[in-house]
Amino acid sequence: MKTSYEKFDVFIAGGNITGLICAIALSKNKIKIGCCDPNIDINNFNFEDTRSTAILRPGKEFLESLNIWKKLNNSCLPLDKMEIIDDNKIFKKFSHFKNYIFDSQELLNKPFGWNVKNNVLKKTLIELVRKNKNIKFFSKQSFEKLLIKKRTIVIKLSNLKIETKLLIGADGLNSKVKKSIKVKQTLIDTRQKALSFQVEHEKSHKNISTEIYKDGGPLTFVPTKYRDKMNYSSVIWMSYSKEIEKLTNLPKNEFKKLLFERSLGIYGKLNLKSNLNVWNVNTMFVEKLCHNNVILVGEAAHVLPPIGAQGLNTSLKDISILNELFQNKKKLSYQELLREYETKRMPDIKKKIFSILLLNEVVKSNSVPIMFIRRFGIEIISKLGFLRKNIMRFGLN
Ligand SMILES: Cc1cc2nc3c(=O)[nH]c(=O)nc-3n(C[C@H](O)[C@H](O)[C@H](O)COP(=O)(O)OP(=O)(O)OC[C@H]3O[C@@H](n4cnc5c(N)ncnc54)[C@H](O)[C@@H]3O)c2cc1C
Repeated sequence: MKTSYEKFDVFIAGGNITGLICAIALSKNKIKIGCCDPNIDINNFNFEDTRSTAILRPGKEFLESLNIWKKLNNSCLPLDKMEIIDDNKIFKKFSHFKNYIFDSQELLNKPFGWNVKNNVLKKTLIELVRKNKNIKFFSKQSFEKLLIKKRTIVIKLSNLKIETKLLIGADGLNSKVKKSIKVKQTLIDTRQKALSFQVEHEKSHKNISTEIYKDGGPLTFVPTKYRDKMNYSSVIWMSYSKEIEKLTNLPKNEFKKLLFERSLGIYGKLNLKSNLNVWNVNTMFVEKLCHNNVILVGEAAHVLPPIGAQGLNTSLKDISILNELFQNKKKLSYQELLREYETKRMPDIKKKIFSILLLNEVVKSNSVPIMFIRRFGIEIISKLGFLRKNIMRFGLN
């Protein structure tokens, strides 16, 4: 007897930010989408993610085109300027720290990006998915294995089977989809971790996102919406794994004292407003993005250290290109669509991986020559208008 499975045009394994946005985008093409996640229950939202995401200009435009932005707009704060402080032990001997400001007005009359709390972003996306008749979300269900047939793929979830024409792996760094199609990945352990938390501070952030460079990694303050206050930020403290582990075990008062010293007092007194979350800092890329009718997107395909807000913004590009190809689907077979996706995304992903990896190495280094290069590099970039603009443009694209 023939088994009948629930059928989809596209099935997405992984329903975190990338998977949810991908489902919403592709559903606009009036196709039947399925999505599953073992850690998400769309009827009972209780996440604790103390991070925020800085969505850069192109990402915002894409979310506008999907009508997601209008739901987020009131929860975002614009990032008008970016400040870099090089807290460099060599130069500190001779002078106080030095700061460099990069102003978004130099490029276009718009902010670099808009910052939104991850909890707010996820909640908004889940609400949109719940209301979307073209999407069926399988809460608490995990992708287990697949069987590739001539025209379709049969997928085994935790306790049911489904059939789909296209499978998208949005299931993160340790993606089972990626393993099932035997795609090789290169994983670089940066020996760093990141702490995320929210703080209230004495002085206003003036919509400036600040990165304080020091060996081990940057300490980043990103202005975050909290009522009408201008003194609330999301913080990412990156450093060597051992230092981060020590920080998480400190009594609250000692942690606050160290945070104040590490922030050079630029925000005045700091008050912790959330728990601390610890994140591994990895760099990962894959040898290919597609196999048969299976595609990898988001952190299943590329993982970047949290510098320069590139992680989700790179994933938004994956989804935007995939969506464009779907809009032209009538002219393309699935095989052609997959090939186009690989051709369009791979060079950009490699460029991002290489540049963020290099930036991270330069920022975290405690080698004297690299510290000199870091200081003079920032100095030159901040002085030369054409170079400064080109680097800002690169960071945004
Ligand atoms: C500290 C930090 C700060 C960051 N800040 C920024 C920023 O400012 N701007 C920016 O652009 N990016 C940022 N990023 C990156 C951004 O957070 C990620 O890109 C984002 O979380 C999206 O990841 P993802 O959905 O692709 O993968 P993940 O978040 O890893 O989600 C994968 C999902 O797949 C699910 N899953 C796992 N296995 C299975 C399975 N077998 N079947 C089905 N589902 C499965 C998981 O439960 C999970 O929900 C930051 C990252 C870190 C660590």
